[in-house]
Amino acid sequence: MELPKSFGAERNIALSDLTSFRVGGPACVVLHPRSYDAIADIVSTARRYSVPLALLGKGTNVLASDRGYDGWIIRFDTPLHDPVYRGTNVTVCCGMSMTVLARETVRKGLMSMECLCGIPGTVGGACAMNAGAYGSEIKQILKRIRILKDGTDEWVDVKDGDLGYRKSAFSFPDAIALEAEFALKEDDGTAMETLLRCVEKRKEKQPLDVPSAGSTFKRPEGHYAGALIEQCGLKGFSIGGAQVSPKHAGFIVNANGATEADISALIEHVQRVVKEQTGVTLEPEVKRI
Ligand SMILES: Cc1cc2nc3c(=O)[nH]c(=O)nc-3n(C[C@H](O)[C@H](O)[C@H](O)COP(=O)(O)OP(=O)(O)OC[C@H]3O[C@@H](n4cnc5c(N)ncnc54)[C@H](O)[C@@H]3O)c2cc1C
Repeated sequence: MELPKSFGAERNIALSDLTSFRVGGPACVVLHPRSYDAIADIVSTARRYSVPLALLGKGTNVLASDRGYDGWIIRFDTPLHDPVYRGTNVTVCCGMSMTVLARETVRKGLMSMECLCGIPGTVGGACAMNAGAYGSEIKQILKRIRILKDGTDEWVDVKDGDLGYRKSAFSFPDAIALEAEFALKEDDGTAMETLLRCVEKRKEKQPLDVPSAGSTFKRPEGHYAGALIEQCGLKGFSIGGAQVSPKHAGFIVNANGATEADISALIEHVQRVVKEQTGVTLEPEVKRI
């Protein structure tokens, strides 16, 4: 099918190039829409022709299949415009990098996003996942969000988003987050110091030099996934090229040319052992494509 220029189509792209885990087979068509209208057109065209559709931001919380994806993938990882500041509020395109935004807000004399610096995805991915770190989460600062849902493009109040631990109603396929408005505060003089401390903590604790999708599992009520995995003797355990990070047991990493099958087998193994030894069920945080 000949696709409009505004869809920004590329063909036969390896999903391993689009995801931070660096795994995944070929995607038939990857679309880089150049406007919000183009995103809406892609969704309606895919629906009309019954083409399977997936959505990626920066692919930092996704495990992609070795078989690839036989449909269209929207890659919404580039901002369509600059952020707009009004007092202590900022409205941004959801294709913007969360880390770039967090740094920019601090430079502008604002605070509340500093702990989110270092989350490697987009603002859209962060809203979809209700991302959080070091005591801060998107839910605390998101005011309203512009979403595309059932063919309608509208701004909705964050209260209607059912934001919970690593989940929201603004997540694909329920919705596509287009723009987000955040209510921040004036910097009390501590924002840059906090930002640098959070970034430093990440470098110290997380295996940032090896491909991963961050924490593989959600934090189980009353526990830390990494601590449970370590307690079960699984730190450093490998299947194929996939490994439980020797630096942080909460991260499964692609240590040596892992496939999705290796990572999936390791996820299942960790879940089984942790359940047997501690009785706790670990639920994956990473999404599948
Ligand atoms: C080294 C590392 C550290 C990390 N640290 C953290 C952390 O501290 N805290 C944390 O919460 N996460 C963390 N993550 C996970 C990940 O970065 C976040 O979940 C991030 O918010 C995902 O954004 P993304 O753009 O990469 O989304 P993707 O991984 O591309 O997508 C994730 C999900 O969101 C959906 N989605 C993406 N964009 C949109 C949109 N615009 N509208 C609707 N749905 C959308 C996708 O369809 C998919 O289901 C980390 C990951 C890595 C690799």
